[in-house]
Amino acid sequence: MDENFLLDNDVSQTLFHNHAKHQPIIDYHCHLNPAHIAQDRKFDNLGQIWLEGDHYKWRAMRTNGIEERFITGNDTSDWEKFEKWAETMPYAMRNPLYHWTHLELRRAFGVETLLKPETARAIYEECTAKLRTPEFSARGLLKKFNVEVVCTTDDPIDSLEHHLALKNEGFSTKVLPTWRPDKAMAVENPAAFRSYIEQLSAVSGVSISRFSDVIDALQVRHDFFASVGCKLSDHGIEEFYAEDYTQAQIDAIFNKVYGGKELTKEEIVLFKSAMLYEFAVMDHQKGWTQQLHFGVIRNNNTRYFNSIGVDTGFDSIGDFTLAKSMSKYMDRLDATNQLPKTILYNLNPRDNELIATMIGNFQDGSVPGKIQFGSGWWFLDQKYGMTAQLNALSALGLLSRFVGMLTDSRSLLSYPRHEYFRRTLCHLIGTDVVKGELPASEMDFLGKLVEGVSYRNAKQYFAF
Ligand SMILES: [Zn+2]
Repeated sequence: MDENFLLDNDVSQTLFHNHAKHQPIIDYHCHLNPAHIAQDRKFDNLGQIWLEGDHYKWRAMRTNGIEERFITGNDTSDWEKFEKWAETMPYAMRNPLYHWTHLELRRAFGVETLLKPETARAIYEECTAKLRTPEFSARGLLKKFNVEVVCTTDDPIDSLEHHLALKNEGFSTKVLPTWRPDKAMAVENPAAFRSYIEQLSAVSGVSISRFSDVIDALQVRHDFFASVGCKLSDHGIEEFYAEDYTQAQIDAIFNKVYGGKELTKEEIVLFKSAMLYEFAVMDHQKGWTQQLHFGVIRNNNTRYFNSIGVDTGFDSIGDFTLAKSMSKYMDRLDATNQLPKTILYNLNPRDNELIATMIGNFQDGSVPGKIQFGSGWWFLDQKYGMTAQLNALSALGLLSRFVGMLTDSRSLLSYPRHEYFRRTLCHLIGTDVVKGELPASEMDFLGKLVEGVSYRNAKQYFAF
């Protein structure tokens, strides 16, 4: 992991060191808590900032035979949990956690020793002491990693008070909200849905008694998000919802679920089809980009779900049928020229070529790369997954127009993942040049390509 980590030839090294390394970071999708940035949170110790909420690490620890009390338990200290993480680290060789962990130690803390049981105490103490200095507060870390823009993930009923405070204060990193209205289409549980709609009514000032009122209330919030600088939406969906429906059907389904009755599977899909369409129309009107994350099966383990809840490391790749419904969804919007800029993130790598060709169906010359194939996501966020995504996109679309990497992280220490992505990108391009498959005479253009995918394309595409 020296300065030429992942870069095994001169051209890759030149591309990385001269064109990628110094570009600022645009993190257009993540799950950082905006309150931590607004309040400039300081972290107590390395265990807390690393292990709190990080279900990637939790999964590896369970696989390594660590008892749950040392992972999510309340009766163990941050140090005890960290010690078990250090014990797991050597066993994580060839898992991206091994690279991520050591890149974070090097780039954030300047620690070059490998984490293992023998080094755990010294690393913990050195990093913990640094975390207590201003340079390592939430804002200090964003500055250290040269982060120009962060887009958090927010519910339409959120007050966005932290975004507003940061905006008024003029903090050097732009911290913008992202519209994530998943709960407005979560009609599986009538009581939870009703309670959500009541909160939506209260914050929007729109009294809600029928479906069109829901759309009016969401529009009020959409306008408010735009006023705070929002440029993107994000939707977590299992599969694409693109069934034909009539307005009368959707009105009746809304009345049924709002009245407390369980919906049938067919009704749920019709309702989600209507919502996904309406959300896209709103985004298109404002020139926003919609992101669609799909293909996960969540909460597979009932015993753990009942004891520790969602987002704890029990999700995996699903195998839903995608192509026809995805095509129909985008075509319905495109027919009236209301398809917004769109980023598609598949979780199943089986779908890489499918997505890479699907995006070509709806490019219309209005914006370079209007429909994007999102960077390797979640289980694909490593060298192997990134390389597969970059190769499919290059072969079937235009790599040069790609908006590149995002962290999708809850941790302020995750920013070296951009470096990891840029190294992977430079390695692929440099290797093609060495093999004579790309022209060595066009290094200026290739340098610009790398700069574009690392930084500039995203800045232009999202209009930050
Ligand atoms: Zn995400």
